[in-house]
Amino acid sequence: MVKFGPSGTSPIFYDAGYKITLDVPNWLNNIGLQAYEYSFGAGYRLSLEKAQNFGIEFEKYKISLSLHAPYYINFANPDNIMIEKSFSYVLRGFEYLKMMKGKKLVVHLATQGKLSRDEALFLTSKNLDDCLRRIYENNFENFYLCPETMGKFSQIGNYKEIIDLCVKDKILMPTFDFGHINCLLGGELKNKDDYKRIFDYSFEKLGEFKTKNCHIHFSKIQFSAKGEIRHLNYDDENFGPSFEPFAEIIYDYELTPTVICESKNFMAEDALTFQSIYNQVKTMKN
Ligand SMILES: [Zn+2]
Repeated sequence: MVKFGPSGTSPIFYDAGYKITLDVPNWLNNIGLQAYEYSFGAGYRLSLEKAQNFGIEFEKYKISLSLHAPYYINFANPDNIMIEKSFSYVLRGFEYLKMMKGKKLVVHLATQGKLSRDEALFLTSKNLDDCLRRIYENNFENFYLCPETMGKFSQIGNYKEIIDLCVKDKILMPTFDFGHINCLLGGELKNKDDYKRIFDYSFEKLGEFKTKNCHIHFSKIQFSAKGEIRHLNYDDENFGPSFEPFAEIIYDYELTPTVICESKNFMAEDALTFQSIYNQVKTMKN
């Protein structure tokens, strides 16, 4: 089953009279969404008690939960102390996943910094190996670590790099952020063939299970020559990508991803829009 949901809570949550974030699973269920991404991008600021209560609610309403690890993780940092910190942030993310009854931890792997691309990729790959060892040592191998495709050229993670890294281990599953991919392609993620290229490469390298159950971030994103500038809402007319061709690929390739919308303020509304576009495609093709 394809699942749709927002990253974080739209203003409509509060407009609808909800006051505490513990009500998020109930709210999502009421408006007809099935997934949610909780962001620890700025750090792990959630008490263990709240995390556990969240887990109970997410399970009760059958909302599929993913977590976003802190943005300051960087596997291409040449400093070993910083690398140890990055590992601890990943492990902490898995502890939260366990408490909050989620399955997927999304992570930005690295930035290139002053290194060459090859050096940064080498460090990222080596440190990912070490991180995987820690994950297994701590018995988190029943969860997925989902490296994300990034939107700036200075970051590690174009779609081929992410797919190639995900070959390493069964717990690595790609996060395709199509807003980001579109930034790196200079706005050329437009038709079905553009998506096909990405999924064909993923099927070839990662096989059916990881490709069909991949994690998706979708939103329109403004970009410059350096890549990503900022996230927009889906009604923006200047920047892409548009959801229709991707909805067709989901149907044609029988994908069952979790699609998380990262629009600026309308993530729940736009997630519902994506869902209805997908349902239209399904009705048309059946
Ligand atoms: Zn991200």
